[in-house]
Amino acid sequence: MKRPFVFVNLAMSADGKLSTRERRQVRISGRTDFLRVDVIKAESDAIMVGIGTVLADDPSLTVKSPELKSKRVKSGKEENPVRVIVDSMARLPVDADILHKGSGMRIVAVSREAPADKLAQLRPLAEIIVAGENKVDLPELFEQLCKMGIDSVMVEGGGQLIWSLFEKGLVDELYTYIGNLVIGGQDAPTPADGNGFVSEKDFPGLELIGMDKIDEGVLLRWKVL
Ligand code: NAP
Repeated sequence: MKRPFVFVNLAMSADGKLSTRERRQVRISGRTDFLRVDVIKAESDAIMVGIGTVLADDPSLTVKSPELKSKRVKSGKEENPVRVIVDSMARLPVDADILHKGSGMRIVAVSREAPADKLAQLRPLAEIIVAGENKVDLPELFEQLCKMGIDSVMVEGGGQLIWSLFEKGLVDELYTYIGNLVIGGQDAPTPADGNGFVSEKDFPGLELIGMDKIDEGVLLRWKVL
């Protein structure tokens, strides 16, 4: 199967949490890491996020730096990468920031069970890709993104989407920023939620390809073997 290069970028607390147990967004990194994330976002063809993250945080996922935006435009691209929302039942609110802030294409990936009336509301705001019966079929989605000329995808989270990507063997690299705080809570999201692997033979192997102190934390870059 042909698919884009897929990398996951996330920030977690020192105890491995993405946010609070109430799914409230937390500032985990600092200004230097914020700039690093803006650069890799600007270098990507698409940025992908699960509907859980959109409902919790209402992110716009735009490139923030004016210089990076104009660099993209000078090379014939839109200011922002294509924003892809993985949303089986089309729960995405029509007034979500991701649909309105910044220029560039949006794609809502839905399953065949997504209600037609909601899709009609979303169509003027985004392209719709249908993949999977009642849950978005991620390999099928990536195949369709590839056909649209999308060669690199940055995955922004959250934990359930990242888990599914690992489960299906669809992640090439993982960038984990570990911040200097403890969030705690057994119900707080972690980088790979979902069911988890049961057998050791299924654990994806990782090779450490980078380690940098940034702000008050550390960035680990892993290649998935
Ligand atoms: P999520 O991973 O963003 O979205 C999960 C949802 O995606 C699922 O409930 C499912 O809803 C949909 N989905 C569709 N197809 C899927 C598939 N094949 N596999 C998995 N999911 C699929 O949500 P989350 O795990 O609740 O994470 C949200 C939390 O993470 C928030 O608290 C946010 O603040 C935090 N977050 C933190 C970071 C960070 O770097 N610190 C980054 C991002 C998010 P449907 O069944 O309705 O489609």
